[in-house]
Amino acid sequence: MTGAELERLKTSSRRIGSVTLGWHDCDFCGAFEGNGEYRYYLPDGEVYAAPMMILHYVEEHGYRPPRELRDGLETAGRPRWDWRAERLRGVLLDQSEDPDFRCQAAVDLVNWDDPRALDALRRAAHDEDLADSAGDAIGRSLAAFVDRGLARELLVEDLHVMVRHGIEEESGR
Ligand SMILES: [Zn+2]
Repeated sequence: MTGAELERLKTSSRRIGSVTLGWHDCDFCGAFEGNGEYRYYLPDGEVYAAPMMILHYVEEHGYRPPRELRDGLETAGRPRWDWRAERLRGVLLDQSEDPDFRCQAAVDLVNWDDPRALDALRRAAHDEDLADSAGDAIGRSLAAFVDRGLARELLVEDLHVMVRHGIEEESGR
Protein backbone atom coordinates (compact mmCIF):
# COMPACT_ATOMS: atom_id res chain seq x y z
CA MET A 1 0.00 0.00 0.00
CA THR A 2 1.44 3.40 -0.92
CA GLY A 3 1.91 6.22 1.56
CA ALA A 4 -0.85 8.19 -0.15
CA GLU A 5 -3.23 5.24 0.10
CA LEU A 6 -2.44 4.85 3.77
CA GLU A 7 -3.07 8.55 4.41
CA ARG A 8 -6.45 8.37 2.68
CA LEU A 9 -7.38 5.30 4.69
CA LYS A 10 -6.43 7.03 7.93
CA THR A 11 -8.35 10.17 7.02
CA SER A 12 -11.40 8.07 6.26
CA SER A 13 -11.06 6.06 9.47
CA ARG A 14 -11.48 8.80 12.01
CA ARG A 15 -14.89 7.95 13.43
CA ILE A 16 -15.75 4.62 14.99
CA GLY A 17 -18.97 3.46 13.40
CA SER A 18 -19.99 1.02 16.08
CA VAL A 19 -18.44 -0.69 19.02
CA THR A 20 -18.78 -4.40 18.58
CA LEU A 21 -19.58 -6.66 21.48
CA GLY A 22 -16.67 -8.97 20.97
CA TRP A 23 -13.06 -7.99 20.88
CA HIS A 24 -10.15 -9.34 19.00
CA ASP A 25 -6.39 -9.28 19.41
CA CYS A 26 -4.05 -9.12 16.46
CA ASP A 27 -3.44 -12.64 15.16
CA PHE A 28 0.19 -11.85 14.43
CA CYS A 29 1.50 -9.94 17.42
CA GLY A 30 -1.28 -9.92 20.02
CA ALA A 31 -1.69 -6.14 19.98
CA PHE A 32 -5.14 -4.75 20.64
CA GLU A 33 -6.23 -1.38 19.34
CA GLY A 34 -9.94 -1.19 19.88
CA ASN A 35 -13.10 -3.06 19.16
CA GLY A 36 -15.13 -0.75 16.99
CA GLU A 37 -15.50 -0.69 13.25
CA TYR A 38 -14.97 1.88 10.55
CA ARG A 39 -17.40 2.28 7.71
CA TYR A 40 -16.48 3.73 4.35
CA TYR A 41 -19.25 5.19 2.18
CA LEU A 42 -17.83 5.31 -1.31
CA PRO A 43 -19.19 7.77 -3.86
CA ASP A 44 -20.33 4.91 -6.13
CA GLY A 45 -22.81 3.59 -3.56
CA GLU A 46 -20.73 0.86 -1.97
CA VAL A 47 -20.27 0.64 1.79
CA TYR A 48 -17.29 -1.13 3.32
CA ALA A 49 -16.89 -1.96 6.98
CA ALA A 50 -13.66 -2.97 8.65
CA PRO A 51 -12.66 -3.62 12.25
CA MET A 52 -10.64 -0.88 13.90
CA MET A 53 -7.66 -3.20 13.73
CA ILE A 54 -7.43 -2.54 9.97
CA LEU A 55 -4.98 0.33 10.50
CA HIS A 56 -2.79 -1.87 12.67
CA TYR A 57 -2.81 -4.65 10.06
CA VAL A 58 -1.90 -2.18 7.33
CA GLU A 59 0.83 -0.36 9.22
CA GLU A 60 2.41 -3.25 11.09
CA HIS A 61 1.79 -6.28 8.92
CA GLY A 62 1.60 -5.03 5.36
CA TYR A 63 -2.08 -5.79 4.85
CA ARG A 64 -3.59 -4.30 1.69
CA PRO A 65 -7.34 -3.63 1.71
CA PRO A 66 -9.23 -4.68 -1.43
CA ARG A 67 -8.57 -2.66 -4.56
CA GLU A 68 -12.19 -1.49 -4.70
CA LEU A 69 -11.79 0.19 -1.33
CA ARG A 70 -8.41 1.72 -2.13
CA ASP A 71 -9.66 3.04 -5.45
CA GLY A 72 -12.91 4.23 -3.91
CA LEU A 73 -11.11 6.29 -1.30
CA GLU A 74 -9.01 7.82 -4.04
CA THR A 75 -12.08 9.16 -5.82
CA ALA A 76 -12.29 12.78 -4.87
CA GLY A 77 -15.23 14.16 -2.99
CA ARG A 78 -17.97 12.92 -0.74
CA PRO A 79 -20.96 10.94 -1.94
CA ARG A 80 -24.00 12.80 -3.24
CA TRP A 81 -27.21 12.52 -1.27
CA ASP A 82 -28.57 9.07 -2.05
CA TRP A 83 -30.66 6.23 -0.68
CA ARG A 84 -28.02 5.42 1.94
CA ALA A 85 -28.17 8.95 3.33
CA GLU A 86 -31.97 8.93 3.17
CA ARG A 87 -32.08 5.68 5.11
CA LEU A 88 -29.63 6.95 7.76
CA ARG A 89 -31.66 10.12 8.17
CA GLY A 90 -34.82 8.05 8.56
CA VAL A 91 -33.24 5.87 11.22
CA LEU A 92 -31.79 8.83 13.11
CA LEU A 93 -35.15 10.58 13.34
CA ASP A 94 -37.30 7.52 14.02
CA GLN A 95 -38.01 7.34 17.73
CA SER A 96 -39.07 3.72 17.45
CA GLU A 97 -35.67 2.68 16.11
CA ASP A 98 -33.03 0.99 18.23
CA PRO A 99 -30.92 3.68 19.99
CA ASP A 100 -27.68 2.01 18.88
CA PHE A 101 -28.74 2.18 15.23
CA ARG A 102 -29.74 5.82 15.69
CA CYS A 103 -26.34 6.52 17.19
CA GLN A 104 -24.61 4.82 14.25
CA ALA A 105 -26.71 6.86 11.85
CA ALA A 106 -25.56 10.05 13.61
CA VAL A 107 -21.96 8.97 13.07
CA ASP A 108 -22.38 7.92 9.45
CA LEU A 109 -24.40 10.89 8.22
CA VAL A 110 -21.27 12.99 8.51
CA ASN A 111 -20.15 11.41 5.23
CA TRP A 112 -22.50 13.71 3.33
CA ASP A 113 -21.94 17.44 2.95
CA ASP A 114 -25.62 18.09 2.70
CA PRO A 115 -27.99 20.40 4.57
CA ARG A 116 -30.38 17.49 5.03
CA ALA A 117 -27.77 15.64 7.08
CA LEU A 118 -27.11 18.73 9.16
CA ASP A 119 -30.82 19.34 9.67
CA ALA A 120 -31.36 15.76 10.86
CA LEU A 121 -28.45 16.03 13.29
CA ARG A 122 -29.79 19.30 14.69
CA ARG A 123 -33.18 17.72 15.23
CA ALA A 124 -31.60 14.67 16.83
CA ALA A 125 -29.64 16.93 19.17
CA HIS A 126 -32.93 18.21 20.56
CA ASP A 127 -34.33 14.71 21.10
CA GLU A 128 -33.72 14.41 24.84
CA ASP A 129 -33.98 10.64 25.03
CA LEU A 130 -31.62 10.10 22.14
CA ALA A 131 -29.18 12.74 23.37
CA ASP A 132 -28.92 10.90 26.68
CA SER A 133 -27.40 7.90 24.93
CA ALA A 134 -26.05 9.22 21.62
CA GLY A 135 -25.45 12.89 22.39
CA ASP A 136 -21.70 12.51 22.17
CA ALA A 137 -21.87 11.05 18.65
CA ILE A 138 -24.36 13.69 17.55
CA GLY A 139 -22.16 16.46 18.93
CA ARG A 140 -19.08 15.16 17.12
CA SER A 141 -20.97 15.04 13.84
CA LEU A 142 -22.33 18.56 14.33
CA ALA A 143 -18.81 19.79 15.05
CA ALA A 144 -17.61 18.26 11.78
CA PHE A 145 -20.16 20.35 9.88
CA VAL A 146 -18.99 23.48 11.68
CA ASP A 147 -15.37 22.58 10.83
CA ARG A 148 -16.24 22.33 7.15
CA GLY A 149 -17.91 25.72 7.27
CA LEU A 150 -21.32 24.22 6.56
CA ALA A 151 -22.95 25.15 9.83
CA ARG A 152 -22.81 28.56 11.35
CA GLU A 153 -21.85 28.73 14.98
CA LEU A 154 -24.05 26.37 16.94
CA LEU A 155 -26.03 27.71 19.84
CA VAL A 156 -24.35 25.28 22.17
CA GLU A 157 -25.99 26.60 25.32
CA ASP A 158 -29.31 25.29 23.98
CA LEU A 159 -27.97 21.79 23.57
CA HIS A 160 -28.01 18.71 25.76
CA VAL A 161 -24.91 18.37 27.92
CA MET A 162 -23.82 15.21 26.08
CA VAL A 163 -24.13 16.93 22.71
CA ARG A 164 -22.03 19.82 23.99
CA HIS A 165 -19.48 17.35 25.26
CA GLY A 166 -19.23 15.73 21.82
CA ILE A 167 -18.81 19.11 20.14
CA GLU A 168 -16.03 20.07 22.53
CA GLU A 169 -14.27 16.74 22.11
CA GLU A 170 -14.32 16.99 18.34
CA SER A 171 -13.37 20.66 18.24
CA GLY A 172 -10.45 20.06 20.57
CA ARG A 173 -8.77 17.64 18.19
ZN1 LIG B 1 -0.17 -7.08 15.07
